[in-house]
Amino acid sequence: MIQSSKARQIILDACPQLGTESSDLASALGRIVAKDVVAHEDIPAGDNSGMDGYAVRSDDTSSPNGQVVLNLVGEVRAGAVYRDEVRAGESVKIMTGAPIPRGTDAVVEREQVEESDGRVTLKIPVLRGRHIRKRGEDIQAGKLVLEKGRRLRPYEMGVLASLGIEKISVHRRPEVALLTTGDELTPVGNDPAPGQVRDSNAVTLAAQIFECGGKVISLDPCGDDEVRLEEALRRGLSSDALISTGGVSVGDYDLVLRVLERIGVRIQFWGLNIKPGKPFAFGLHLQADRVVPVFALPGNPVSAAVMFLQFVRPGLMKMQGATPRETLSLYARLEGKIHKADGKRHFLRGIVGNESGQLVVRLTDTQSSGALTSLLQANCFIIVPEETREIKHGDLAEIELL
Ligand code: AMP
Ligand code: MG
Repeated sequence: MIQSSKARQIILDACPQLGTESSDLASALGRIVAKDVVAHEDIPAGDNSGMDGYAVRSDDTSSPNGQVVLNLVGEVRAGAVYRDEVRAGESVKIMTGAPIPRGTDAVVEREQVEESDGRVTLKIPVLRGRHIRKRGEDIQAGKLVLEKGRRLRPYEMGVLASLGIEKISVHRRPEVALLTTGDELTPVGNDPAPGQVRDSNAVTLAAQIFECGGKVISLDPCGDDEVRLEEALRRGLSSDALISTGGVSVGDYDLVLRVLERIGVRIQFWGLNIKPGKPFAFGLHLQADRVVPVFALPGNPVSAAVMFLQFVRPGLMKMQGATPRETLSLYARLEGKIHKADGKRHFLRGIVGNESGQLVVRLTDTQSSGALTSLLQANCFIIVPEETREIKHGDLAEIELL
């Protein structure tokens, strides 16, 4: 049995990075930038107004007796340009986003101005630069705006859009073969006969794969039949990665490990010092020109889902070129208490909330690795390290937001 940090490192080191392709910006959400993006122009492209108001020369606005009256000589709206030079004693009405007229160096917001009969009266003196969004204030030409390995969120996409970049180099999405095993499984659309359970992992795991950028290739479930299992797993090796669930423990019909070895998958480890999810194997299938990572997850629905988040997801993200990111660990005061003596790392399902400015966390109603609803209630994992034997009521517990 190996520790979870070691396991994660082995997975990250072994998962191969996929090639790159060009994607339309509009369909690039969630994908990973494959090449650094350097700005080729300034944003904003020129000085413009941050407010609806009046463009003025700041020198005009300080008067010993308080009030300043300026001639209103024109107007500039967003999308237009005011051509003339603005001279001393003059002002131009300006809308948010409109370019700053030549000669002016500040914008006085409407609230501080009274306008009548072609004149404006300022209630306050203003400093140079007030309410002006300077050219290049957001992005300067030549600056690195997105580094490779970054995941495209709506904001990264917006920055690319503002630079006029419509095509972006991203890593290919992995095709991930998914196989559920177990004689007891019946398709979700069937009424289970006595002893049968619906194949919910086929749905949960497919959604998890999709959520982290993969394309799911669903293999036909193969029960616990060794011949069919071998056939299905072999087929799975033509994808970029293979995930199985069930049949990887020590039961009489847990055949996955044996069959994986027989078809040439080199098992890197089997058995993790964690809970839930101890029976988990990770292997590699070396082919002429590539390596296919194989994740054999346990069948218990919670274990499978938790293991996916902790170990498969980082691997699939690495395949897409993502720079591994440290999960943000937070600490919350525990409500209730936690005891364990098995020396394993526990990923308990927790509910964290804010109580008078303090993070407080409690366990979900059940921690059974078969009870999927614990993942509905939970909004975090409570991480209990290997060596920790108890966390007392009111002590700080490490949490990871879900
Ligand atoms: P196993 O890992 O094969 O020993 O399965 C452990 C438990 O998880 C058993 O109670 C199985 O019935 C259940 N299980 C296995 N695979 C699935 C699945 N695809 N969907 C729902 N439950 C499953
Ligand atoms: Mg089974």
